[in-house]
Amino acid sequence: MSITAPFDNSYARLPRSFYTRQNPVPVRAPQLIAYNESLGALLGLSAATEAERAAVFSGVDLPEGAAPLAQLYAGHQFGSYNPQLGDGRALLLGEVIGSDGRRYDIQLKGSGPTPYSRMGDGRAWLGPVLREYVVSEAMHALGIPTTRALAATLTGEDVIRETVLPGAVLTRVAASHLRVGTFQVFAHRRQIDELRQLTDYAIARHYPQADGPLGLLRAVCAAQAELIAGWMSVGFIHGVMNTDNSAISGETIDYGPCAFIDDYHADTVFSSIDRAGRYAYSNQPHIAVWNMAQLATSLLQQLDDPQAAVAEATQIVHAMPGQTEAAWLRRMGAKIGLTGPTPEDVPLIEGLLTLMQDQGADFTNTFDALARSDARDQFVDRDAFDAWAEGWRARLATEQDPQATMQAASPRVIPRNHRIEEMIQAAVAADYAPFHRLMAALTDPFDTQDTGLMRAPTKDERVAATFCGT
Ligand code: AMP
Ligand code: MG
Repeated sequence: MSITAPFDNSYARLPRSFYTRQNPVPVRAPQLIAYNESLGALLGLSAATEAERAAVFSGVDLPEGAAPLAQLYAGHQFGSYNPQLGDGRALLLGEVIGSDGRRYDIQLKGSGPTPYSRMGDGRAWLGPVLREYVVSEAMHALGIPTTRALAATLTGEDVIRETVLPGAVLTRVAASHLRVGTFQVFAHRRQIDELRQLTDYAIARHYPQADGPLGLLRAVCAAQAELIAGWMSVGFIHGVMNTDNSAISGETIDYGPCAFIDDYHADTVFSSIDRAGRYAYSNQPHIAVWNMAQLATSLLQQLDDPQAAVAEATQIVHAMPGQTEAAWLRRMGAKIGLTGPTPEDVPLIEGLLTLMQDQGADFTNTFDALARSDARDQFVDRDAFDAWAEGWRARLATEQDPQATMQAASPRVIPRNHRIEEMIQAAVAADYAPFHRLMAALTDPFDTQDTGLMRAPTKDERVAATFCGT
């Protein structure tokens, strides 16, 4: 008896040109590292033993009703178009309708080669699997739209990267895995029937009120604007905002060399492959617009008279910076205690960020101190903070309960890079205590008492670069 799930696989009912049917390649010695009980319950997965879970979530056993497939997509990577990407190390097991009435994809990542693997081995190693598990669940707890982590398993097999590393599989759950790149692949190939079917599918699945391709564009732009503002408000840097890593649902997807800012600087980049800083912290709102322009270009191809719609599509994409700015203002305003911030409050927010940048103040800890203790201690030049705080206190005079506003908007704990690295190193040595400690604190990010995980890294602890999750 394996795990049962109420599968209803709508993507598998789309034409074969959308994917390739493919089973996971079984692994030698599956072992369960982590399982997300509450998410499993939401998805309607049956109770199961640890061994059964290890077998299913490493791809050894297929649950009844699963219809595994590798999805086709393309995408712009660092600005250059790659005509074919696709699930090279992942498989969609199937979809279920959760107890909340929403449809979810269940995907294995690291499950073996597919026709889209190109030179890759289709596998993942333990580090990126645990990184994605921790960071995606942390994002969820922070209230930012994201794919989620259902399980992490060891495969009992080695993965060869620069060194020999333990192989692992992540089971990921998403509102869907539709990407900007899924639209691009059909638009660039002039497969207009497929493009239309994909558009209808995306509308039905994510934005049923949307009216046609431009309605879909409008909805995705709004969701992406909200998402990026969420990232900015917690100091998150995605690191690889390629169009194949940009989800139509508006969820954060594909956690690679992502990282949270420690000491604040607007130009922060962690990813070792992002040499030009294309995906730097402060560039993320612009890149999201760029990605939506690619979506617009693709969507237009299906219209009988694309030229006639260019003006409207342009107007939709051009509205996005204003939407991101508004969402940013709402979230950042709340972080300094404002319930109804207006554009006139932007200089106050920017003033604090400039102060933080000039003095290397820690992003999370400064806002935590503002909300819960005294932020003055976060600055070397306290007089400069006092000068800013004078205007701030004056502005707060009309707020009912700024402390509560700030506390609800500023987490105390984020998955800091040095803690992630420490957790991965321990896990490679079969010590999962740091993983569990991180998960426990990050599940309750606004109220954690774990001061060890709240502490900013020392100079020696600081992680300078993060690497791609392959
Ligand atoms: P990502 O890093 O998730 O943005 O991946 C970019 C592309 O490379 C996607 O098409 C992945 O499926 C593919 N890819 C990444 N790692 C591997 C791997 N180990 N084996 C096969 N394909 C991979
Ligand atoms: Mg990707």
